[in-house]
Amino acid sequence: MNRIAFTLEDLQLEIAKTCAKGKIFQENVRLIAVSKRQSAAKIRQLAAQGQSEFAENQLQEALDKMSQLTDLSVKWHFIGAIQSRKCKAIAEHFDWVQSVDREKLISKLNDARPTELSPLNVCIQLNYFDEPQKSGAKPNEVETLAKMITEMPNLKLRGLMVLPPKQTTFSNQKQQFDEINDFYQHLKQQYPKMDTLSMGMSNDFQAAILAGSTMIRVGTALFGARQDTELN
Ligand SMILES: *Cc1c(COP(=O)(O)O)cnc(C)c1O
Repeated sequence: MNRIAFTLEDLQLEIAKTCAKGKIFQENVRLIAVSKRQSAAKIRQLAAQGQSEFAENQLQEALDKMSQLTDLSVKWHFIGAIQSRKCKAIAEHFDWVQSVDREKLISKLNDARPTELSPLNVCIQLNYFDEPQKSGAKPNEVETLAKMITEMPNLKLRGLMVLPPKQTTFSNQKQQFDEINDFYQHLKQQYPKMDTLSMGMSNDFQAAILAGSTMIRVGTALFGARQDTELN
């Protein structure tokens, strides 16, 4: 259904087209370039074309790349599984963490966030369909986590991040995303300052946007296939 790789410009056009179709303001949909297992050189290239937010899922790999890109003013999102001993480095080096899924991480991230930085933006990773192999909080755990995050001075609750099961048809993708958006809207009644529903990747971002996503995380469609070996 989707092309293998877009240029950044083509991807932005596709996002614009999708927004127009859904009568959605394009500035309400942020594009995050998922740069895991892509080189620092490729990140630099995309940043030069105007892409300003990147996401990584492995701490050490991210820190290595950040150290090569200190001259860029880009924002970094952490989207991988979080081991609690890594909270400190994540809180120090990232602008966003989208994969918070248990209580223990919340106070650790809060305590480690340097107070001279603005509060760390946090999304709760939601395992909406309760898939056993995936991380993420269960739907009935989300309220407790949300409350805890809002009580932390150095954290800012922004919303939810989801990675629903892969679906091959647009209508199945859309249906899953619609259900998740209902859940998000319900939570937002309690936490009206939330503004982020992070959903949609390379193969389903159009359906995600039409279902109310405010943040899409696109890797392979933008960078091409990921490297499985050494980065340089
Ligand atoms: C890898 C990854 C993506 C991007 O996936 P693509 O299919 O390459 O676009 C998005 N979100 C998360 C959490 C990921 O781990």
